[in-house]
Amino acid sequence: MSSVRQTGTPTGPGTPLRFVRGVGPRRADQLERKGLTTVEDALFFVPLRHEDRTRLTPMRALQPGQAQTCSGVIVGLSPPPRGRPRVPFSVLLRDASGYATASWFNAGYLARVLARGQRLVLHGKVVRYRGTLTLQHPDYEIVEGGEDEHLHTGRLVPVYSSTEGLGQRPLRSLMWRLVEAYAKEVAEVLPEPVRRRRKLVALPDALRGVHFPESDAALAAGRRRLVFDEFLLLQLGLAILRSRTTRARGIAMSPRGALVERLRAALPYTLTAAQERVFQEIRRDMAAPFPMHRLLQGDVGSGKTIVAAMAVLTAVEAGYQAAVMAPTEILAEQHFMTFRQLLDPLGAPITLLTSSLAGRERARRREAIAAGRLACVVGTHALVQEGVEFQRLGLAVVDEQHRFGVEQRARLRGKGEHPDLLVMTATPIPRTLALTLYGDLDVSVLDELPPGRRPIVTVARTESKRRQIYDFLRREIAAGRQVYVVYPLVEESETVDLKAATDMARHLGRDVFPDLDVGLIHGRLPFDEKEAIMRRFKAGQIAILVSTTVIEVGIDVPNASVMLIEHAERFGLSQLHQLRGRVGRGPWKSYCVLLTSGRLGEEAERRIAAMVETSDGFKIAEVDLALRGPGEFFGTRQSGLPELQIADLLRDGAILEEARREAGTIVAADPELKAPEHRALRQRLLARWRGKLALASAG
Ligand code: ADP
Ligand code: MG
Repeated sequence: MSSVRQTGTPTGPGTPLRFVRGVGPRRADQLERKGLTTVEDALFFVPLRHEDRTRLTPMRALQPGQAQTCSGVIVGLSPPPRGRPRVPFSVLLRDASGYATASWFNAGYLARVLARGQRLVLHGKVVRYRGTLTLQHPDYEIVEGGEDEHLHTGRLVPVYSSTEGLGQRPLRSLMWRLVEAYAKEVAEVLPEPVRRRRKLVALPDALRGVHFPESDAALAAGRRRLVFDEFLLLQLGLAILRSRTTRARGIAMSPRGALVERLRAALPYTLTAAQERVFQEIRRDMAAPFPMHRLLQGDVGSGKTIVAAMAVLTAVEAGYQAAVMAPTEILAEQHFMTFRQLLDPLGAPITLLTSSLAGRERARRREAIAAGRLACVVGTHALVQEGVEFQRLGLAVVDEQHRFGVEQRARLRGKGEHPDLLVMTATPIPRTLALTLYGDLDVSVLDELPPGRRPIVTVARTESKRRQIYDFLRREIAAGRQVYVVYPLVEESETVDLKAATDMARHLGRDVFPDLDVGLIHGRLPFDEKEAIMRRFKAGQIAILVSTTVIEVGIDVPNASVMLIEHAERFGLSQLHQLRGRVGRGPWKSYCVLLTSGRLGEEAERRIAAMVETSDGFKIAEVDLALRGPGEFFGTRQSGLPELQIADLLRDGAILEEARREAGTIVAADPELKAPEHRALRQRLLARWRGKLALASAG
């Protein structure tokens, strides 16, 4: 029973926070804004970090260049002089050992908060500024000396993600009370053998450890336990999905391979060993009487398309239909052009189905798909969502996994006879991360580029170099090459962006290269026009192709040797890498010029630097992941996976592996978690995946 229980109100960790003594409606609202409704939510709301206030650094011993914690009394305040808001607000502090200053920019409000005589605990980076040691923009806390002061000083002190109106101190005091009263009541979810095997502390101890640890070791043990649980729930869900796939009856497609042979014979090159290997993996899956569920990973330019085309032909020869899906209409159109080129000569009828088609034409194509007159359909992910009917869908190829999540995969599985699924992604990610996001898929990797690729020279340039860049373009074109000029497309202002690209194309064509053919392509053009321009560019009739990001993925013109990216600072890193991958596809030396304007933010600076430094997709992905964080990088929200709250994909890879192994063992023995010893785990799992697993509710 809980010690803060009130009569007539719920008890235990499920208690709404607003029923907890001392939490009024206002505070409850503030907590709610943090997503904390119940006591249990709060218990799992782990601190961002801990400050070691057992070891406060004496001011005399502060070291420039480090983040340090110290404590002192305010002996002087200097707000920025009137009319000079750019001067920082600084205070002079004293402790037994000496003096230090702390300064904050844009912090005029501090005049109302800080006063001489207050004791502060500060944590922040120390710099030497005009001869004195200064804590720059430190976190600070006013020490009040109340009864619970032991929570805030002299220990490992938790620092929470705070919220408007809810400071560290009251939050910390509340958390202390909650942990004291409720941690012991949180139900254990792990089966005892798992806990023992993995040497994990009990859940109540883990919660105490992550909030108010007595030592670094207690903190680490607590964190390890919570991270393990979080990964286990994720991996269990994926393992369940996967075990359902492998138990389901699928389509066995093993034709002689005549179509694939004819495709091969028509190719102007031989497949790389990696392409051969991966295709064999796919063929084996397709031949098996279970649904294939495979991820095809390969850096831009590694030749995924041809492998996918061979899979499509395998399905077609076996008498089934194939669907090829891309996240955007433009990408779907790109794929359609590529696949049509490969499939048409083999007599496999293919069509494009997008929402921009006129109603009647759309209906006609849908009807042909349903009647089985079309072997292959290319479209957006909406192909699955909008309930397009196939006569005999055997294979679905999905490009750009990121935006095609667990739920959509499930929906696809639900389509008739469990078609095979091949997911393609150009984002190379470390194995542990792949396991998180694609734990329900088998993985094939194209780890070899076609021979003869030469590294692309990447440079960053500013506006002042525009003339020289144009001269360079001219020389390349004189040597027979072609050039891309790309403009960013920011969705909020599509018309403005479009105008910029249009103006640029006109300017280049009229004023800069009046003797050359300059083409313009953008998403608003009808498909036929886009296709015509693409064809002319491919045929070498256009020297410079100005475009919005429509050519981001999929365009393939080996003769193009320069990719000039305007406003490169506005693009994401993986997007830049994809764009760069459009050149360097022929035997010529190729270039990527990143043109930036204005002063760059720190993140943009790092993106550009990464591009200049490396062409390795793996390294690019790592930097991207570090810059954006896993949530955004993976688009976890779209992926349909539960968000990670505590675990850190970059740091906790080893724990992830352990959790994955345990999940495998558990699901192998009890695929739907019906055993009594898995009851608690099962409940937690259902809550975490919010119905996406739909475990049978009996048991
Ligand atoms: P991805 O989709 O993986 O970025 P693509 O499938 O677009 O790559 O292939 C990139 C380029 O390499 C295309 O021009 C393609 O024709 C070519 N290509 C693919 N496989 C080979 C190979 N084995 N040898 C030579 N060129 C290849
Ligand atoms: Mg591609």
